[in-house]
Amino acid sequence: MERIDDRIYADSPSAEDLAVKFAEATTGLTRKAAREESNRCLYCYDAPCIKACPTGINVPSFIKRIATDNLRGAATAIMTANPVGASCSRVCPTELLCEGACVLNDASRPIQIGLLQRFATDYAISDSRPLFTPGKPNGRKVAVIGGGPAGLSAARELARDGFQVVIYEARDLAGGLDTHGIVSFRLPQSISLWEVEQVAKLGVDIRTGIRVGDDVSVEQLLADYDAIVLAAGMGHVPSLGIEGEDLEGVYDAIAFVERTKSGLPPLSLSGARVAVIGAGNTAVDAATCSIRLGAESVKMIYRRTRMEMTAYPFEFEFAKQEGVEFRWLTQPVRIIGNAEGKVTHLECKRMVLSPERGKDGRSVPLPVEGSEFLLPVDAVILAIGQSRHLDLIGQLGLAHNKGVVSVDADTRQTSHPSIYAAGDIVFGSGIGEATVVSAAEQGKQAAHAIRRRFASQV
Ligand SMILES: Cc1cc2nc3c(=O)[nH]c(=O)nc-3n(C[C@H](O)[C@H](O)[C@H](O)COP(=O)(O)OP(=O)(O)OC[C@H]3O[C@@H](n4cnc5c(N)ncnc54)[C@H](O)[C@@H]3O)c2cc1C
Ligand code: SF4
Repeated sequence: MERIDDRIYADSPSAEDLAVKFAEATTGLTRKAAREESNRCLYCYDAPCIKACPTGINVPSFIKRIATDNLRGAATAIMTANPVGASCSRVCPTELLCEGACVLNDASRPIQIGLLQRFATDYAISDSRPLFTPGKPNGRKVAVIGGGPAGLSAARELARDGFQVVIYEARDLAGGLDTHGIVSFRLPQSISLWEVEQVAKLGVDIRTGIRVGDDVSVEQLLADYDAIVLAAGMGHVPSLGIEGEDLEGVYDAIAFVERTKSGLPPLSLSGARVAVIGAGNTAVDAATCSIRLGAESVKMIYRRTRMEMTAYPFEFEFAKQEGVEFRWLTQPVRIIGNAEGKVTHLECKRMVLSPERGKDGRSVPLPVEGSEFLLPVDAVILAIGQSRHLDLIGQLGLAHNKGVVSVDADTRQTSHPSIYAAGDIVFGSGIGEATVVSAAEQGKQAAHAIRRRFASQV
């Protein structure tokens, strides 16, 4: 499978064209609209939206501050509970979380909490004053492995508690999938980098371009720090295990999307027929990116149905609006290429769902005998989940289930008493949610557990 990174695309779209196509797709609220929307809030006692937000943002409180034009206060309330609250205002599945819990769902329509959150955090971004200050140094040192939402959240809380914190980040820019993975027309990179900057301004030493396990050993970290927060997320898209994955024109969805956010010339799909395999958020992002890169048609291929699809409802709607087609109950069995080794067809099989449930509780797809057919394609993008950091977890000697690190649900402490884990690295096997907001909350929980652990000693 091509990982895209080193290829040069002579016929790439122009920088101007890309800037337009990959600019943020939705506009924020105007001040007037934000004030009107905030005045619809009932400021419920025991508000259900607070409970529905994984980071427990005091939603009525920040909305009240918007209504009274205290935008800095609103942003502080948001970012106190959620160190990546600006990104979350754009990518949270709000209809399943805060907005889904709003009491106004029964009467009219829910408060647009995500948009109000964006309005307040956009103000903080435009205002150069930092929202937080570091705590009084307590003499303790913590290493954070990974500078994504979980690592940034843990680091921010620890710095406010006076810990000396170093983030080790393998890439050249911190921010994790917010910076590199989620498409820029939903989450511009500048928003994520502002959140990184807020953490750096608290004195957190963010060492980019350093991969723990390769550039610095885990033994070194264990010797140098009082505690470690493991927040390395997940890896690349795994192989599907079918013939033809090494052909030219077969791509890893995460590397493909990353190319559009990295400032490097992305792949041109001008006039191409694209098949995206998978039906999660990554698959939707790859599909909508393909449309913006000029694809003639984009089909998402999924062996189950809409009901089992893991992409959020808003992602599904967005993909439909963008013109993505869906081939449900379809399983790829082989990728076929021409004499030059370039993809020409995807061979698929039709499926039916068995009434029996698999170990994950979902219906099991079964092949329909003799139903094979060929789809003519120019590119195939694999988006069937992400691999796990087995090597790093092995080096740290942590208990895990197929690369899902085992943690205490409240403290995020792993099987090693000094190592805590948060975010996507603990997601899977029916545990947790792979969302930015969950990663942020778990990072906070790890930091608070470290604070409690050393409270009697600092
Ligand atoms: C395409 C796509 C779209 C998504 N869309 C949404 C969405 O709309 N809404 C939503 O809530 N969630 C979405 N998600 C999920 C969300 O991005 C993740 O759940 C979240 O980023 C997890 O945060 P994390 O900090 O655990 O991991 P990551 O964001 O993956 O960050 C981990 C960091 O660790 C670094 N790292 C890895 N190994 C090492 C090492 N050995 N040493 C040092 N650093 C290391 C990585 O470079 C990375 O920066 C999407 C994910 C993808 C891939
Ligand atoms: S962080 Fe997400 S879930 Fe929480 S209030 Fe904001 S938009 Fe809603």
